[in-house]
Amino acid sequence: MKAITVEPKKPGTARFEDFPEPDVREGSVLVEAVAAGVCGTDVEIVTGKYGWAPPGKTRLVLGHESLGRVIDPGESSAFKKGDLVVGIVRRPDPVPCPNCAVGEWDMCRNGQYTERGIKEIHGFMSERWRSEPEYLIKVDPSLGILGVLLEPMTVITKALEQIVVIGQRAYWEPKTVLVTGAGPIGLLAALRLRARGFQVHVLDRVETGSKPELVGALGATYHTGSVLDLGFEPDVIVECTGVGSVIADSIQKVGAGGIICLTGIGAGGVAGRATADMAAGAVLKNNVIVGSVNSNKRHWYRAGENLARSDREWLGRLITRCEKPENFQQALERRPDDVKVIIQFSKI
Ligand SMILES: [Zn+2]
Repeated sequence: MKAITVEPKKPGTARFEDFPEPDVREGSVLVEAVAAGVCGTDVEIVTGKYGWAPPGKTRLVLGHESLGRVIDPGESSAFKKGDLVVGIVRRPDPVPCPNCAVGEWDMCRNGQYTERGIKEIHGFMSERWRSEPEYLIKVDPSLGILGVLLEPMTVITKALEQIVVIGQRAYWEPKTVLVTGAGPIGLLAALRLRARGFQVHVLDRVETGSKPELVGALGATYHTGSVLDLGFEPDVIVECTGVGSVIADSIQKVGAGGIICLTGIGAGGVAGRATADMAAGAVLKNNVIVGSVNSNKRHWYRAGENLARSDREWLGRLITRCEKPENFQQALERRPDDVKVIIQFSKI
């Protein structure tokens, strides 16, 4: 079979190449790849900044946003041939830490977890892949190719759960939510927050095109420019850019008792404002700045339910480009009007 592979930490080593069939030790369920989503982490791995091959190997199969079709369910009675499935990305650490021991591998305490297509386990950008049945999520067949959005949806499902849990520390009636960044994560956050009845504002650098249209179609308000220039103090900010200056502005702008949930991982320092000043502002306003990464099985299940209930036409507009595996390099390029780019391995 063929797979998109890379030698982690070595830029320029990615290729679409012949690769051995998936090892049966990777799981009893054999899956034919339908599509894989591309995200910033894939770009980081291909440019040599991140990623780890499986122990004893030099190359890693890329891809953690999956959609596949069961070819052989093996011993598992939970799946049948033809089921559309998505693979869970993270595996608990082998120790395990208390959080991994109770299935909260998204909250792993010792960092020894592994992740498909990122850290020590092959990913999903191969014509066929395997999984243990307990790490597969069935996708509502009516979603079709849109099932590839399930992994990004899990990130938001977990982040919103964190916000709800933290909100219970005091009496709290949040009404306005600002989402910074109108990429796939930000737009899915806006979708879910609108579904929960919040006044949603989305801020991004892009001034025209599909991003403002997608936000408008949700009944949310689109902004460009600085967070500091917004005419209101958001109760909640879901930060999806990872950009230092946007984070600093968000910490300053959030209302009292507010929550800032950081989901973006960016680079570079905070420009022009001392960290101590920001921390003081957060203390004086009882603000919480919470980091949120990854998701556990509860989030994956809920994300699947939420995705299946969402507007198909709107979700379809998130997928702005579909490339063939042999053109994966183009898929990794960032083009101005890209929201979610996917690589399609087989027909749905
Ligand atoms: Zn752990």
